[in-house]
Amino acid sequence: MVKISKPQNDRVKYFKCEVCLKDIPIEYYFTAGDSITCNGCSTEYVLQSKSPLELTRQATDYSKLDFDEPY
Ligand SMILES: [Zn+2]
Repeated sequence: MVKISKPQNDRVKYFKCEVCLKDIPIEYYFTAGDSITCNGCSTEYVLQSKSPLELTRQATDYSKLDFDEPY
């Protein structure tokens, strides 16, 4: 059995979700422009900057959903 030691997660930052106020972990591999989904309420954010940590909420545009597609 090979024991894999977990890396120290001291690079992980947290962003408080504006909707459900849960902390969203911003992993080190995220870069500006990445979309991050809150695992509490599924709100989508786009990472603007990591230092300082800045995220913008993606407005879910339901009007874009096309239900009456022409055949
Ligand atoms: Zn949330």
